Amino acid sequence: MTAQKLALIMGVANQRSIAWACVQSFLSQNYDCILTYQSDRFEKSIQKLIEQQKINNSPGRILGAVPCNVECEKAIPLLLQADIPHLLADRHRPFDAIVHSIAYADMQDPRLSQTNWSIFSQALHISAYSFLQLTREVVEKDFVHISDGSTTGSHSSLISLTYLGAVRAVPNYQSMGPAKAALEATVRGLALEYGPTHQLHINAVSAGPIATAAAKGGIRSFSSLQQAVKETSPLRRHVKAEEVANVIRWLSESTGVTGQTIYVDAGYNSVVPIAL
Ligand code: NAD
Repeated sequence: MTAQKLALIMGVANQRSIAWACVQSFLSQNYDCILTYQSDRFEKSIQKLIEQQKINNSPGRILGAVPCNVECEKAIPLLLQADIPHLLADRHRPFDAIVHSIAYADMQDPRLSQTNWSIFSQALHISAYSFLQLTREVVEKDFVHISDGSTTGSHSSLISLTYLGAVRAVPNYQSMGPAKAALEATVRGLALEYGPTHQLHINAVSAGPIATAAAKGGIRSFSSLQQAVKETSPLRRHVKAEEVANVIRWLSESTGVTGQTIYVDAGYNSVVPIAL
């Protein structure tokens, strides 16, 4: 019998979160899932989501949900040293998939030119550095598979969420553009460092605009980004969170793909966006 697979999914805020769609996708494929959310303020609503989820009778199980505010330097070490071992019967059961679905920038003033160091560095810390710290900590604390280098052996996969604003100037995306560029470069750098030693597969998935709390609440005129995708992308529609989540799960199970940014955006990134 093959061992039950284990996924860590970070960044669930509510049922519209891409992270929550990832939970559904991994559960449907019989994974054990551990979730994280930003702070105690989310606890009640996350517990409610988990209760509702049980009714769906998915084959996988949610082992638990724990807070982890990545802006606090000690939060990720604490998560791995205390919270997660507490949820696992086998303290060092390795993760097959780790999804980092976390980003934040204070976008009250949407102009990049007016961003100060405090706003800029916070966006970088939460949205990019936290992925670097997470990757280092799961390796150092033995939460990844020890790979024999074969294509058939188990490997651990880390995936973060990014957006086209990393490589194109997007109106009102402010410091998230530089933060996502840093994230994508971090993905490539970490893939290069941890490939030879641990066979880690580290990738980013670049999602098209989806109406989540972070997107609608954070980005001014967010609906016009969706409108542009609807009018000019090859598929002439937005993507759904579940489509992004299914690619994340597929990617986490794939071998031979690392250091990449994979677009799930109805093809929008591949065209000159002109509505005819
Ligand atoms: P969301 O609001 O559901 O998720 C964002 C999550 O980040 C929330 O759970 C929030 O609590 C968490 N977060 C913020 N600051 C944090 C901190 N200090 N510590 C821990 N967690 C923190 O929105 P979403 O759209 O599902 O966003 C998930 C990811 O997808 C983000 O990286 C976002 O940039 C990316 N993304 C979203 C879209 C989109 O259009 N929705 C497109 C491309 C990429």
